[in-house]
Amino acid sequence: MTHMNVERERRTFSALETAAFDGQALLERGTALLEYEPPAPNPGRAYLKHCRSQHLSPTARLRNAIENHELSLHYQPQYAISGGRFYGLEALARWFLPSGESIAPTIFVQRAEQNGLIGALGAWVLHEACTTVAAWHRDSELLPILCVNVSPRQISHEFCSVLATTLERTGFPAARLELEITEGILIEQPELALECLAQWKRLGVRISLDDFGTGYSSLNYLSQLPVDRIKIDKSLIHRMSAEVKTAAIVRAIISLGADLGCAVLAEGVESERQLTMLIGMGCQQVQGYLLARPARADKARALLAANQGKRPIPHPYPAACSATASSHAF
Ligand code: C2E
Ligand code: MG
Ligand code: MG
Repeated sequence: MTHMNVERERRTFSALETAAFDGQALLERGTALLEYEPPAPNPGRAYLKHCRSQHLSPTARLRNAIENHELSLHYQPQYAISGGRFYGLEALARWFLPSGESIAPTIFVQRAEQNGLIGALGAWVLHEACTTVAAWHRDSELLPILCVNVSPRQISHEFCSVLATTLERTGFPAARLELEITEGILIEQPELALECLAQWKRLGVRISLDDFGTGYSSLNYLSQLPVDRIKIDKSLIHRMSAEVKTAAIVRAIISLGADLGCAVLAEGVESERQLTMLIGMGCQQVQGYLLARPARADKARALLAANQGKRPIPHPYPAACSATASSHAF
């Protein structure tokens, strides 16, 4: 290890000492919900095998599943490092077959994107998530930030109307909804994407940039997109403890977020070492298997209730970097 690396490690660990209390609190709260969710050994093959057994094409089978409400949502908690509070949830689509096997969302979301079903899938996910969490709010005043993934192919004026209607019908507060996009939205139809994002912001919804650090990660995108939060991709988090350069990139993203006034969340935190490194780098928000796996709605709600009691949760973000967002802050 070079002198510079030793010095960096020393600084990291001395910062950690001061943050150790918060990190420990976070772990104690998070591990309350460790639900094992086994990965399918070969998700693509399980899907094709199932479709063959039903004599349906994979697209027709997926269309049935969406129409017949065979999909469900799991929710993964997000934590603020300071104080170890659980304040947000990411809704993640799940498809369990009657056999008990599951089809990975990466498989069926991609198929939906390729076969014109992504609009229907996305509308269902948004409606289901907002309905579920709006009911928690009505019944028990629990109101986390709710994050919903929006695929690049979903971006359309039609989705903007779906968003407005869903907020109105479910009564879910727009300022508590965060739509997760990826930089891919600027690749196909950049003008349409910017128009739609501006419309979301007018509705008062927050926007995060998911999987940041993969793909092109153009810094120019960050200046163009009205982003409130950056989510550092889990591949960087997984590599940073073994790769000095990756750790430097993660640290740079965290500091960039602070300069832009965007919140930064690290995804895919699986080990205490990763958590302690992130604390040392000044990261403020984390999500990952170490703290909690995605869980069914009832379990996620129980964890939220245990962490928050019945108090409404104050907004966790710093002022948003987009000009319009601050007027919608809680
Ligand atoms: P994503 O939006 O980046 O979601 C995070 C993924 O990382 C989830 O995988 C989550 O289960 C997984 N994850 C969370 N913590 C950890 C960890 O500590 N280690 C590891 N190895 N993984 C972790 P999942 O649920 O399989 O979803 C994969 C991707 O599928 C999502 O990535 C998102 O791009 C897409 N997806 C899932 N649900 C939806 C949806 O409702 N709509 C759209 N458009 N895409 C979705
Ligand atoms: Mg996401
Ligand atoms: Mg992600």
